[in-house]
Amino acid sequence: MRKVSIFGATGSIGQNTIDLISRNPSAYDVVALTGGANIEQLADDARRLSADVAVTAHEDRLEDLRSALTGTGVEVAAGQAALTEAAARPADWVMSAIVGAAGLPPGLEALKQGATLALANKETLVCAGALVLGTARKHNAQLLPVDSEHSAVFQALVGEDIDAVERIIITASGGAFRDWPLGDLASATVEQASSHPNWNMGQRITIDSASMFNKALELIETKEFFGVAADQIEVLVHPESIVHSLVGFRDGAVMAHMGAPDMRHAIGYALHWPERRDLPIERLNLAKLGQLRFQDPDEARYPALRLARNVMERGGLSGAVFNAAKERALDHFIARKVGFLEMAEIVETVLNRFEGADSLIDAPITLDNVLQTDHLARKWADDTVMKRAG
Ligand code: NAD
Ligand code: MG
Repeated sequence: MRKVSIFGATGSIGQNTIDLISRNPSAYDVVALTGGANIEQLADDARRLSADVAVTAHEDRLEDLRSALTGTGVEVAAGQAALTEAAARPADWVMSAIVGAAGLPPGLEALKQGATLALANKETLVCAGALVLGTARKHNAQLLPVDSEHSAVFQALVGEDIDAVERIIITASGGAFRDWPLGDLASATVEQASSHPNWNMGQRITIDSASMFNKALELIETKEFFGVAADQIEVLVHPESIVHSLVGFRDGAVMAHMGAPDMRHAIGYALHWPERRDLPIERLNLAKLGQLRFQDPDEARYPALRLARNVMERGGLSGAVFNAAKERALDHFIARKVGFLEMAEIVETVLNRFEGADSLIDAPITLDNVLQTDHLARKWADDTVMKRAG
């Protein structure tokens, strides 16, 4: 039996992961499941899968979790430190599906234990790419991408030499506002930004898809994961979300990865890697689809892409700044304190403010430095919002 843990088990990726392992329960021994405020879901899954431990990120919900699991034999714990402790429990395969930089400490801890880390949490690589890859190497731990684009690239690279890669093309649906007139974006609401045309995902990544902050994070994730130069990575708008990404080689060949837009493919690939096994994914019928469309992204519409290019060029801890400022800008958008287009303006203001603080950006990429930088960037994002509010 394989020992598995799922961080962010109650979320969209977490639930899709549970769907897959529940189809073959005798193959998996569930160690830790973690969640946030959805105690009922966490407790139900922990009981059904006989997890060793269930952890909620919210310390004030510990007693609720305890009462939901009394008599089941499932241990309970709460808080950020408890999440990292749960990641220290031996497991063969760990799903990193917390949303945001909060996913970094438990992911790093799992790598230190030598676990295979299935990485849905792209923020981990954006904030601390070199640290994460270095930790994996040092502890002989395998890192597998779960973001659909990166899983697609990873699969296109099987049996290939990375030196033969000329470019990596990550596709983007264009999100909820792809076809909106530019002039309407300023007044886009949280509800409008929270519905994705093709993928069913958590609210935060769905809004990030509408603003292309998601693709911006993925550009940085691509650079960190595959170790290619920033100018080798392209973004291609592809409204149907059937081609998940492409790799172009030095001989001109381009390998595209196609499939239905269902995250259980990328999760299942990482779960069964290096094998391929049956997955409950709808099969493609290209004749029925008839056509696939592609277009270049409009940078005026998506300033997040330009900011990500600056971050890739700047390097150091600027990814941690970018992500933290984006997380706070998104919080303020969801709280209806700032408009849709203001999110990119806030992130740019924070990045500019850090330009005057080279010693912070160029500090060694350690967990402490990432967390401190993250904290400061959040504070500066809040300051920016306060100033704007006058
Ligand atoms: P979600 O919001 O549906 O779920 C997030 C999970 O993290 C929940 O279990 C929640 O309780 C937990 N969580 C939230 N804040 C936390 C905190 N501060 N500390 C600890 N736990 C916390 O998110 P999702 O859509 O499943 O996305 C998870 C991650 O996977 C994100 O990094 C996202 O970018 C990435 N991802 C998601 C998809 C998708 O299809 N949903 C696709 C590609 C990548
Ligand atoms: Mg993606």
